Amino acid sequence: MTNNGGIPSRCWGGKGIVTYVSKTEENPYRRFFRCEIGLQRKKEQHLFKWVDEALLDEIERMHEQQSIMAEEIEDLRSSLEKTVEKVVIKHKKSEDV
Ligand SMILES: [Zn+2]
Repeated sequence: MTNNGGIPSRCWGGKGIVTYVSKTEENPYRRFFRCEIGLQRKKEQHLFKWVDEALLDEIERMHEQQSIMAEEIEDLRSSLEKTVEKVVIKHKKSEDV
């Protein structure tokens, strides 16, 4: 797996991506994403990606995003805790006086 962009939405030419079904002997009924122009101009390098691989990439990407978010939530939680602690200490001090 080289392209780790997940599910493709656009080709470099800006054209939309269409899903096709492979009819080759090697990959019968395997679905793939293909740039519309790429199908007409076979000599040019246009987007091609198997749907199953794209979905795996997408899951991997979401998993990465999820762990980043979990880290961010943890950071927020600890900074919130610290803020609350500070406020509580301040409050106690003002009560003491
Ligand atoms: Zn294209």
